Amino acid sequence: MKKFVAFAISLVLVIGTVFPASAASSFADAAPGDWFYEAVEYCRENGLMSGKGNSRFAPNDNMTRAELAAVLYRHAKSPAVTASAGFSDVEPDAWYTKAVTWAQENSIVSGYGNGKFGTNDNIRREDIAAIFWRYAGRPTVGRDAEFADMAQVSGYALEAVDWARAKGIISGKGNNRFDPKGYATRAEVATILMNFCKLGSEDTPPSPDPAPDASKVLVAYFSATGTTRPLAEYAGDMLGADLYEITPQQPYTEDDLAYYTGGRADQEQDDPSARPAISGSVENMGQYDVVFIGYPIWHGQAPRIISTFLESYNFSGKTIVPFCTSHSSGGGSSDTNLHSLAPKANWLPGQRFAGGATRDEIEQWIDSLDIPQQGETALPTGTFNFETKTVLLNSGYEIPLNGLGTYSLHGDVCVDSVKSALKSGVRLIDTASAYGNEEEVGQAIREAIDVGIIRREDAFVITKIYPGSEMENPEESIQACLDRLDIGYVDMMLLHHPDRNDVKAYKAMEKYVEQGKIRSLGLSNWYVEELEEFLPQVNITPALVQNEIHPYYQENGVIPFIQEKEIVVQGWYPLGGRGHTAELLGDETIKEIAAAHGVSSAQVILRWNLQNGVVVIPGSRNPDHIKENTELYHFTLTEDEMNRIKALDRNEKHDWY
Ligand code: NAP
Repeated sequence: MKKFVAFAISLVLVIGTVFPASAASSFADAAPGDWFYEAVEYCRENGLMSGKGNSRFAPNDNMTRAELAAVLYRHAKSPAVTASAGFSDVEPDAWYTKAVTWAQENSIVSGYGNGKFGTNDNIRREDIAAIFWRYAGRPTVGRDAEFADMAQVSGYALEAVDWARAKGIISGKGNNRFDPKGYATRAEVATILMNFCKLGSEDTPPSPDPAPDASKVLVAYFSATGTTRPLAEYAGDMLGADLYEITPQQPYTEDDLAYYTGGRADQEQDDPSARPAISGSVENMGQYDVVFIGYPIWHGQAPRIISTFLESYNFSGKTIVPFCTSHSSGGGSSDTNLHSLAPKANWLPGQRFAGGATRDEIEQWIDSLDIPQQGETALPTGTFNFETKTVLLNSGYEIPLNGLGTYSLHGDVCVDSVKSALKSGVRLIDTASAYGNEEEVGQAIREAIDVGIIRREDAFVITKIYPGSEMENPEESIQACLDRLDIGYVDMMLLHHPDRNDVKAYKAMEKYVEQGKIRSLGLSNWYVEELEEFLPQVNITPALVQNEIHPYYQENGVIPFIQEKEIVVQGWYPLGGRGHTAELLGDETIKEIAAAHGVSSAQVILRWNLQNGVVVIPGSRNPDHIKENTELYHFTLTEDEMNRIKALDRNEKHDWY
């Protein structure tokens, strides 16, 4: 991620950022006509300086030494740094650390000689001249004229001040005074920076080649009361991103925002179809690879204007990073509930911040994100990624392509098999209330976490609730699954079969998604007719359908129907199911193909499923089989081999459902 930030910033610098006309293009305290306006806009447009929150540039605030290092570091396109600055007042992971380290490594800054850099000290004008001069490569210029107070300039800055004057980078302060010990305001630094940038190429340091893989980033935010705005500005600043404020056509008044008054915000949040109009639009959304979207939480959800925003553009293939501010309630499912509005985007999990979150908090979060770089864009929802061995679900979560089925595993055999699978790199475990082994599955997961085999977030656990009494009392049944598994949240819950109470049960699961106790939802044993009837009745589109699929029962008509709806298909009985595996694994065609690749029949069948876009969950209690069933990525079946297996279809179900 650190690399990404550097690249993002550098690209902005290379191509220059054209701010959308409709974006908030000026700071509240930098208006046309102000002497510094052009410079402030120049620095902002080129990602060199940004505001200080609340749409303020703070032109009269003094600039600190760390801030100046950060500005130049951005100008240098944030090159990688290896060492640490070694100043006692430079924190190891602060927003300025890399900048100060880089500047020190390149002899652009030096400390005070007492081990300190003077991180938060205001920077003096002679030091600004010296720093820019060193950055420019210490050019020599003759002294044709001089400031009246040149005698007060420190020796180390004399040449620099001459150069800055000769090149018109820093001008005097009246009465031909340079005021070397005076501090510089942010407006002055913006002006110096603009002057410096406009020098001819012979006067400025050579730029490294633009990073080819920089992503272009937009930070879009809605901030009715100003709480979300500073966070967006911090993020924009760090990412070198364009900022866009989502501004309602009809601004929200205090009365509109008052909770539980039946006012405008209450009404909109109550109505999922409400789409408050936005004033203006992002110019050329197509140029952005990554879009951060910030919003406050209203009644546990994103304000409906965010839905308007998402429906206004094509986000296919873009990465969306939601973040929200909330004084009390959690972010909950406010982000996942937005996924269906831009289903072809690569959604990263959302992040909640308390109002007043600090710049450091935002930077830590951004640093922890795994944002794809350009050319490395995440595959769209439903497309199998054979590198990561995962597929992105329409819920925004990734599911592993191969897992372990636990039907018929019980007691210690179940615990040991699940642990053996986790040790072999399996990360997807399929269980169900009906299998009677959720407790064992949960125990195995917890034990694997305890001994460091996995972290909770590495495992993807599916469970299911059963027709009849379980679906009749869905809240109780869902909670019972969670209790039996006892692993915090469940990655995915399925309805095991259609049932007269299936819609009711699914809606109960939707509530658990809102509470963050279930992450994704799905169905099992649902076919074309059942799906057509069911889907219009629910709010969250299922992320996955699990059906019987093996070479003798291929479901070639059903699979594309499901996949076209951006629902991932998962196959149960991939090896034919117990009682049928011998026949299937012994099939002559399968054996021949297996021999051609030097793999087992089981591996051929599992690979055939994967190449058809079907996630597999073979069941096994044999550690060797479990391991073998993970080794599916070093060979590829040819088109001819795929067709030969396709020809084996008998439409022969191996179970009744
Ligand atoms: P399966 O995966 O088709 O077959 C399991 C059988 O294959 C076991 O006897 C196993 O024996 C054997 N096997 C596994 N890997 C092997 C290998 N590499 N070489 C040779 N033999 C191998 O059947 P399943 O376990 O019943 O079904 C898979 C999973 O689908 C279930 O566990 C369950 O999670 C799910 N399922 C869901 C539904 C539903 O309605 N949603 C229905 C049925 C099943 P060993 O133990 O000796 O390896």
